[in-house]
Amino acid sequence: MKAIKTIIPATSRNHWVGDGFNVRPVFGNMAFTPDISPFLMFDYAAPRHFDATPKKLGVGPHPHRGFETVTIAFQGEVEHGDSVGNRGVIKPGDVQWMTAASGIVHEEFLSTEFLQRGGTLEMAQLWVNLPAKDKMTPPKYQSILASEIPEIALPDGAGSVRVIAGDYADTRGVASTFSKVNLWVVALRGGKTVELPLLAGHNAMLFVRRGAIELEKQALNEGDLAILEETGEHAKLLASQDSSIIMMGGEPIAEPIVAMGPFVMNTEQEIRRAMMDYQSGQMGRIAV
Ligand code: MN
Repeated sequence: MKAIKTIIPATSRNHWVGDGFNVRPVFGNMAFTPDISPFLMFDYAAPRHFDATPKKLGVGPHPHRGFETVTIAFQGEVEHGDSVGNRGVIKPGDVQWMTAASGIVHEEFLSTEFLQRGGTLEMAQLWVNLPAKDKMTPPKYQSILASEIPEIALPDGAGSVRVIAGDYADTRGVASTFSKVNLWVVALRGGKTVELPLLAGHNAMLFVRRGAIELEKQALNEGDLAILEETGEHAKLLASQDSSIIMMGGEPIAEPIVAMGPFVMNTEQEIRRAMMDYQSGQMGRIAV
């Protein structure tokens, strides 16, 4: 079994990203550290009601370089446009896996249709680092519909696992990744137990999106994150009530991390280069 390294409890230290996303940085002080590699950062916007409005809410054009952003819409809709020419709406259950790599400029808004009628928004954005050798590859975009994400029923009616990326048992998720990454959304019925097949040598994090579980005799409540040890295999979860867990696992990338705002590279010099490339327009612009 993988032992628990750290628990980061749910706190209320939320902040606004633009005027559309009220998020909590779930990794707290562990963000951008080797303990959570290959992941960098995880922002979670808990369910929040938005009144209907004619305004456009979200974040205007901004760049990224050196990593991937993975956006999951649980409720509500996120609209995306970028300098590569992609435009789309991420609907409930959909995932957008955007590889910024050498550089992209994008905007992220609540969808026009969602804002016209109002409703509840719940979303998450996970930043996945790229190995140094892939940081300057061309940007790309994977739009993954809810219907394309395999869902595996757990034995004993314990719930199900949706495989966004990586493998669960012999089921492979749809997202293609540069390093080995497993991203699952696990639904667990109250009172049931599941043993998740986590890998030795991989970092793994469990985020309690909804409900409450017990892990290694420790209670994890809604909003809590458990960071597990790299050593050991498997994690046994007991659901104290109906729960939804996001499992993020992957092979650590043992390379220096230099992060500056929207850029994540290996050296200061590469960060300065990224700023210059963005300012000189080399990351492109969003066509209107
Ligand atoms: Mn962004």
